[in-house]
Amino acid sequence: MAEDVFKKIVSHCKEYGFVFPSSDIYDGLGAVYDYGQNGVELKNNIKQYWWQAMVLLHDNIVGLDSAVFMHPTVWKASGHVDAFNDPLIDNRDSKKRYRADVLIEDQLAKYDEKIEKEVAKARKRFGESFDEAMFCQTNPRVLENAKKRDALHNRFKEALEANDLAEIKQIILDEGIVCPISGTRNWTDVRQFNLMFKTEVGSTADGASTIYLRPETAQGIFVNYLNVQKTGRMKVPFGIAQIGKAFRNEIVARQFIFRMREFEQMEMQYFVRPGTELEWFKAWKEQRMAWHQALGFGAENYRFHDHDKLAHYANAATDIEFHMPFGFKEVEGIHSRTDFDLSQHEKFSGKSIKYFDPETNESYTPYVIETSIGVDRMFLSVMCHAYCEEQLENGETRTVLRLPAALAPTKLAILPLVRKDGLPEKAKEILNDLKFHFNCKYEEKDTIGKRYRRQDAVGTPYCITVDHDTLADNTVTLRDRDTMQQQRVPISELPALLEEKVSITALLKKLA
Ligand code: ATP
Repeated sequence: MAEDVFKKIVSHCKEYGFVFPSSDIYDGLGAVYDYGQNGVELKNNIKQYWWQAMVLLHDNIVGLDSAVFMHPTVWKASGHVDAFNDPLIDNRDSKKRYRADVLIEDQLAKYDEKIEKEVAKARKRFGESFDEAMFCQTNPRVLENAKKRDALHNRFKEALEANDLAEIKQIILDEGIVCPISGTRNWTDVRQFNLMFKTEVGSTADGASTIYLRPETAQGIFVNYLNVQKTGRMKVPFGIAQIGKAFRNEIVARQFIFRMREFEQMEMQYFVRPGTELEWFKAWKEQRMAWHQALGFGAENYRFHDHDKLAHYANAATDIEFHMPFGFKEVEGIHSRTDFDLSQHEKFSGKSIKYFDPETNESYTPYVIETSIGVDRMFLSVMCHAYCEEQLENGETRTVLRLPAALAPTKLAILPLVRKDGLPEKAKEILNDLKFHFNCKYEEKDTIGKRYRRQDAVGTPYCITVDHDTLADNTVTLRDRDTMQQQRVPISELPALLEEKVSITALLKKLA
C-alpha cells in the first residue's frame, strides 16, 4: 500500500516535470536524476528557505561557495580516504548488493512494527480505557519482541564499534535475514567499500594526480575557516553555511532521490568555544527541528534518532527523521564534530588555524557543531507529504500537491475564462504586473476546470480567473487550491494578499 503510494509519487514527479531520470533517452543512469521545470523551482525555494533561515536570520552566520575539487590531502586529513566506507554484502543467488548495516536496521524496524501492530490491535479492542504504557510493560508478545529488538540492537552496536565484519555477517545469518529478491540466505562475506569517486587532474604525460569528487561540502568550509574568520572579522561563536553538490558512489541505489550518487547538501558549520559544544548541539537540534516543523507537516511526522555508532570525529550525533511512505528516514544530520577537522587540517597543512579569543585572552582550536541536510531528501519529504489523491463530493478524484505555498513552483495561475472578448489581454496585463512579485503562470487552453486540475497537480496554491466582470470592475475570482473555495477580490489587492500567503518571508517569520 505505502509502496504503491511511493510509486505514484515517483511517476507524478516525472509526469509533471519535477524529476526525470538522468540521461532518460538512454534509459537513465543509476541513482542520478535531473530536475525538470517544476522541480528546479521547488528545489530553489527549499534552498532559499534554508539559506535565508541561516544567513539572513543570524547575524553571525555567513555563506560560502567552495569548489567541488579540493587538494587530495584534504581527504586524507579528514579521514575519508581511510574510513569513508560502507559495509557491503552480496546475495549469491540474486547477485544483488546490499548495505549490511541497512539490512540489520531494517530487521530492527521489523521488531518495532510488530510491537506497534500489537498496540494498535489492543487500542482498538479496549477503546478509551486503553493504557498503552501498562500494555507495553505486561503483554507477553510485546515483551518478547522488545527483548529480541534490544538484544539485536546491542549486538549490532558492539559489532559496529569493533568494526567486526565477520560478526556483522553472523548477525545477518542468525537473524535469518533473507534477500528480498531471491528470498535466500546465500550471503557473501561483508566487505568495506569506499564511497568516494576518483578522477585525475592534469594530463597523464606530466604526471596526473588523483583527486576526489567531494563526498560532503563540509571540508570546503573547514579549509576556508581562517579565510572567512579573518576577512569577515568573525568572533566565536559563528557559523559558515554552504549549499553545493556532493558525490558518493552509493552501493544501493534503489530509492529514487532518497539515495543518489550526485546530490546536493546544505551544510552549516558552527564554530564554538571548547566545552560549550554540547549546549550548542542541543540548541541547534531545536532550531533545526523548528525549521522543519514551520512547514506544517505535523510534529508526529518527525523524530530524532541518536546515533549508536559515533563517527570518528563526533562526540554527539543525531538525525532528524521524517515519516516517508517507506518508514521514518533520515533527512538531516546534526553532529558535534569536536575540533577534529580543524586540528587535522592544522596537522596535515602545517599551518596554524587557532583562534585568539579576545574575551578570554586564550588561543584555541574551535569546536564545531554541524547541521547537514540533503536538498534532494528534503525535496522528497516535501513531495511525499504533499501528494494527495482526494475524493470529491461529486464522486470524482483529484490529485493535488499540497505544497507549502512558500515552496510551490508557481504561486499564482492567471486564467482568462474564455479566449475572446478581451479577456486574454486583460489577463496578460495582470500577469505583466504580478510577474515582478511572484512566479506566475498564464494559461488559456482547455476548460477552466481542467486548468484548475493541472494547477492542483503541480501544487499552485492560487488561481485567478479573469471574466467579463473583471473588465467592468477590476475584480477577479481567487481560488484556493486546498479548499477549492473562491472569492472575489480587487486586482489592486492581490500583491499584498498573496505576499502574506506565499512568500518565504512569511515562513521565516514563524522562526523568529
Ligand atoms: P545515510 O546513512 O542515509 O547514508 P549519512 O548519515 O551518510 O546518510 P550524512 O553524511 O550525515 O548522511 O549526510 C548528511 C545529509 O546528506 C543526509 O542527512 C542526507 O539528507 C544527505 N545525503 C547523504 N547521502 C545522500 C545520498 N546518497 N543521496 C541524497 N542525499 C544524501
